[in-house]
Amino acid sequence: MGIPEREIWEEIVKTVAEALSEELKLSKTTLEDGSFQVPVEVSNRHCHLTKETFEILFGKGKQLTPIRSLSQLGEFACEETVAVIGKNMRMLEKVRIVGPWRNYDQVELSFTDGFYLGLELPTRLSGDIANSSPITLVGPQGIIALKEGAIRAARHLHLSPEEAERFKLKNGDRVSVEIPGPNGLILNQVIVRVGPTGRLACHIDTDEANAAGLRGKGIGRVIR
Ligand SMILES: [Zn+2]
Repeated sequence: MGIPEREIWEEIVKTVAEALSEELKLSKTTLEDGSFQVPVEVSNRHCHLTKETFEILFGKGKQLTPIRSLSQLGEFACEETVAVIGKNMRMLEKVRIVGPWRNYDQVELSFTDGFYLGLELPTRLSGDIANSSPITLVGPQGIIALKEGAIRAARHLHLSPEEAERFKLKNGDRVSVEIPGPNGLILNQVIVRVGPTGRLACHIDTDEANAAGLRGKGIGRVIR
């Protein structure tokens, strides 16, 4: 007699569902209260550089060396790192470059990094660097003192336009993200960023992740 056909199909569907990426499974989950699950990714300190600045630090004609693509379309971690020096002459080494090239130089550090380097870091969205903290970058071929560019990245939620529509959110909205666990917490003032290269993910820095007891990545819940 064997297994009824329906059960076989259910087994296949279950197997396929399990094989799908966590992201795909999550992005379909909206609860009755309008909350939904979201991958939470921890951004370690990193920088975005112009081609010109990169060439000062690494040499003329040198290219970025991608080692890992990131969740947001087109973004990648590079093999190249820089050292950064703050006002008090302390230095943090191996600050990774995230490509591609930007048309501005920006160093994203945690609040704790700011203490260590003697810098007052404004909390900003990526790209908003006017009057941010000065910082000095050191590479294998050169050094450059930036008049501005060091920030603490504002916690944010990335979405594609389709995801934004599905979850009824728009660019610039603010939501809260709950992170579960024994050190669970609710992060308020999470800024919604909608764009064609966006993919559902909440980005927090290492201070926020440490407070929540989160390593690398986890699952949170967007509430409002
Ligand atoms: Zn981000």
